[in-house]
Amino acid sequence: MSTEGVRRAVIINGHETAYESASTHIEDRGYQFGESVYEVLAFYSGTPLRLSEHLSRLSRSAVAIGLELPSSESLIRDIARAAGMADIVTGSVYIQVTSGVSPRAHIAQEKLSPTVTIIAQATPPDRTGLPLVPITCVTVPDERWARCNIKTTNLLPNVLARKTAIQRGYDDALFVRDGLILEGPSNNVFFVRNGGLLTPPANNFILEGITRAAIIEVARKLRLEVRQEPVTPEAAYGSQEAFITSTIMNIRPISVIDGQRYPSPIPGPVTDAVYENLLRLIDDETNAKT
Ligand code: PMP
Repeated sequence: MSTEGVRRAVIINGHETAYESASTHIEDRGYQFGESVYEVLAFYSGTPLRLSEHLSRLSRSAVAIGLELPSSESLIRDIARAAGMADIVTGSVYIQVTSGVSPRAHIAQEKLSPTVTIIAQATPPDRTGLPLVPITCVTVPDERWARCNIKTTNLLPNVLARKTAIQRGYDDALFVRDGLILEGPSNNVFFVRNGGLLTPPANNFILEGITRAAIIEVARKLRLEVRQEPVTPEAAYGSQEAFITSTIMNIRPISVIDGQRYPSPIPGPVTDAVYENLLRLIDDETNAKT
């Protein structure tokens, strides 16, 4: 397992575990049935961005699939411990909670205790402040289920969509369901139309991103109109700029969508202004706490 200069630390059910040998039981219901929810946190200046928002979403996901989470206090303690073990300044922490280990049966016969896996990764501080690298996107049919607002680890359709995109010579996919663009396999999407932002509404067909919410805040501060409305491919093709957002990438501008190229420069002025102000928000919210 290559570590490529990335420092990692793992805690499983409160126990520090070497990354190379970290494992869970084959009868774990996360492994057997995908009965499992997760979150990914980004760290800046040693501080997780929007921790409480991520923990609230984890809790909503857990409630939605009937999974009992450990207390927030114990999650926060283990997140901080793993981040400390990996000596994170910039990096990420992955949190996965499965319903636990039980002989394989759809309905577990006993009360289970969840399996909590925390993986911390320290990465070089090369994500913020760099020129934004454009990405090309292709629309693909959304073959996921109808509860995409739950952040579960059942990501097979997401993986397949990204593979399809790459096979077609693109970097990433955009899901289309019932004639509407929804989001990417691991990101939300924004379009710039008439100087304002347009993004699909947060409902059960997308994951309501923490970055998406931060972008909406930033845009409002910039006095940009933000419309959370259904987006047809035609509306997307007619937009002036487009970008995707996620915790790990923040923002990536889209240069091509379904073969149609956005005009130079990429990122365009609106994306650029939003990005600059997102970096300021990140700085304000993380530096202030160190
Ligand atoms: N949609 C999907 C399907 C995702 O997997 C992610 C990444 N978690 C996002 C959107 C972006 O969410 P966030 O900004 O909270 O990382």
